[in-house]
Amino acid sequence: MIAKVIVDVPASQTDRLFDYKIPEVWEGSIQPGMRVVVPFGPRKIQGFVIEIVRESDLDKIKPIADVLDVVPVLTEELLQLGEWLSNQTLSYKLSAYQLMIPAALRTKVKKEIVLCGELHQLPFHLQTYFKSDKKVLWTDVITNDKASLKEVQQLVEAGQLEVRYQVEEKGKKKTERYIKLVEVDNLEELIPTRAAKQKEVIAFLKEVKQPIAVQSLIKQMETTRSLITTLVKKGVLEEFEKEVYRDPLAGVQYDQTKALTLTSEQQKVITPILRSLEDHNHETFLLHGVTGSGKTEVYLQSIDQALQMGREAIVLVPEISLTPQMVQRFKGRFGSKVAVLHSGLSMGEKYDEWRKILRKEVQVVVGARSAIFAPFTNIGIIIIDEEHETSYKQEENPRYHARDVAIFRGDYHRCPVILGSATPSLESYARAKKDVYRLLPLTTRVNQRAMPAVEVVDMREELRSGNRSMFSLILLELLRERMKKGEQSVLFLNRRGYSTFVMCRDCGYVATCEHCDISLTYHRTHHSLKCHYCGHEEKMPNTCESCGSDHIRFFGSGTQKVEEELARVLPEAKVIRMDIDTTRKKGSHERLLSAFGRGEADILLGTQMIAKGLDYPKITLVGVLAADSMLHIPDFRSAERTFQLMEQVSGRAGRHELEGKVIIQSYTPEHYSIELVKSHDYEAFFQTEMAQRKTGLYPPYVFIVLVTISHPELTNVITVSEKIASFLKRELQESTTVLGPVASPLARIKDRYRYQCMVKYRNEPRLHETLREIQQHFSREMNQGQLQVSIDMQPYLFT
Ligand code: ADP
Ligand code: ZN
Ligand code: ZN
Repeated sequence: MIAKVIVDVPASQTDRLFDYKIPEVWEGSIQPGMRVVVPFGPRKIQGFVIEIVRESDLDKIKPIADVLDVVPVLTEELLQLGEWLSNQTLSYKLSAYQLMIPAALRTKVKKEIVLCGELHQLPFHLQTYFKSDKKVLWTDVITNDKASLKEVQQLVEAGQLEVRYQVEEKGKKKTERYIKLVEVDNLEELIPTRAAKQKEVIAFLKEVKQPIAVQSLIKQMETTRSLITTLVKKGVLEEFEKEVYRDPLAGVQYDQTKALTLTSEQQKVITPILRSLEDHNHETFLLHGVTGSGKTEVYLQSIDQALQMGREAIVLVPEISLTPQMVQRFKGRFGSKVAVLHSGLSMGEKYDEWRKILRKEVQVVVGARSAIFAPFTNIGIIIIDEEHETSYKQEENPRYHARDVAIFRGDYHRCPVILGSATPSLESYARAKKDVYRLLPLTTRVNQRAMPAVEVVDMREELRSGNRSMFSLILLELLRERMKKGEQSVLFLNRRGYSTFVMCRDCGYVATCEHCDISLTYHRTHHSLKCHYCGHEEKMPNTCESCGSDHIRFFGSGTQKVEEELARVLPEAKVIRMDIDTTRKKGSHERLLSAFGRGEADILLGTQMIAKGLDYPKITLVGVLAADSMLHIPDFRSAERTFQLMEQVSGRAGRHELEGKVIIQSYTPEHYSIELVKSHDYEAFFQTEMAQRKTGLYPPYVFIVLVTISHPELTNVITVSEKIASFLKRELQESTTVLGPVASPLARIKDRYRYQCMVKYRNEPRLHETLREIQQHFSREMNQGQLQVSIDMQPYLFT
């Protein structure tokens, strides 16, 4: 038998299947989806077995040298998904497969065999290994020919053994010594009357009724380690190792919740979802529901139905939304059936969660982007909450979008996929309008509470009337009022696009490109303004082109500056600042938020990270300091992001009894992305923005590919990017637009110069082929490490 293998060499030349002979002893044991070690040139390297066939076209083939897995780490579906993903994202097959397995498996680790069943049920010749310890090293058993791979495989399948990878984690304590009471009849005999302290400890343990950490017992009882050891020796106490969780979300306390009676709107949207589930029919739904409309309850009840049918569920939420509150809602309904995957987990913890999924110990996974690869085999539903979030796109190779992967898997498992959002991405909403997705609207909040009133303050007027501060008079007044009433406020500062666009402080004019209608970016090096879409460049103006004022400058101010200013104008206010600087330490994010929740501050001041999930009854005022800062990022999605963010921020106020108010400060209050937040009118925003996209020829009217070329030598970058641009222009259809090459917005990163070309197309049959040719053509130069050509299909980042 022949195994077709993807080898662990990430390069164009090796991005194909290689044939290896399966040695007879391993015939039947080696399966697709397992990792093996194979000879490759002078070396031995790892590889994934993709397929097993009877014959090879080659005469001389080398045998597989070793087997790494006992059961496949990639299912048949994931093997197909990897192939598809590498095609879609133009990345190596190897990278696609590596994406789907936990990082722990990618490092060099030792394997151990763990006894799960009863010792006496094992074949006799294996029993000796497990007599003293339930774990033995793989090499002790297999390499010494004490058991064959096949035999271990069968025992794993029968649930008697498990093969685990030892994940070493430096400096991390995994277990702690625990103590529990042992029931003995002759307690009086064992503890002499004069041993008062021993009696006290035993009485204490009887009272708490559960095991306790040795360290904590010593502290609480003011006793010693030797006293405890004495009691253990006497057989009154038992000492054991207990795993301690470092995962901040693992220990989340939760109360069991029951399904709520759905509102008639919820009932209406869940019906087609449940039907799709019951009919085993793949369909993608766009659940468009305002904040507080009860989308989560719809998710929960749909998942419940899937579980009752014996199927599994994947729920994706943005990383910053993976808070204890969020986890509680899922654990509260499904308890220990839920695994949580997030970036706070260590490598070993991620591996443990992955194993639970593989061993079918859990049926629901809640996690960030990469949880979409959970190795379930019988998926009943896939949910992507806040589907408009750009973090669902991976910004490094393979540059996949979780939404596309979800739909691939939904199609494979013939199950519903739900995309949920209060402000769907334009792409998704347009697809829903064309019936590619089915639109499910939730138009009202469950508790009938109105969306908060939004007031937009024209900061140009403020300046004209002599207020040079970053706070408008009305915002200051309202802040004071909340403090008087003992209510809380949130101040939101958007720091993206910091100081890159140029604006007139008198009239709000922003320098834009005359060809692209996109704001120009200031380049410090040449003191000039540049368009990153078409390459147009002009001098940095000294006066405003529109009103002649010389108050024209870069825009942006940091949270720290705002905090200082607050201390000056509202010295009595207690402020909690949340930004990258104050939340660097693990757990500080949660700590600051809960302090605010306990009412320890009047004002919460922060960046993007406070836009989500904040749900405190006393928040009645939300202020946005500079709504425009994102609007002028040179990105065709900047209006969409502004509207989404303003809506999301507004949703933080007045969620409970007290009515909420939102103040948005802006230098361009007439811009539709700000104007339409007042009426919370997504539909009107969608229509306006679609018209813009149509004129500018941007998605969803076209698809985009961004090719970024970088090299330490500027002349090299220019030569290569010109070659690529002209090759693209020659090979692609006339109806396709090739823009560039131009310098990237970040023209130099880590001493590498960067240029980019952009392709806009509707239907381009030769696209993949042409891009692959470019990759292959430059692959040698790229392997030598100097040149980088990266291709981003449907990009979200234009840096
Ligand atoms: P969304 O996810 O759309 O922002 P949530 O799911 O958070 O909305 O719902 C908002 C609040 O309404 C939550 O406190 C939730 O428990 C409650 N809720 C949702 N559905 C119902 C229902 N059918 N009956 C009563 N309360 C509900
Ligand atoms: Zn331009
Ligand atoms: Zn002006």
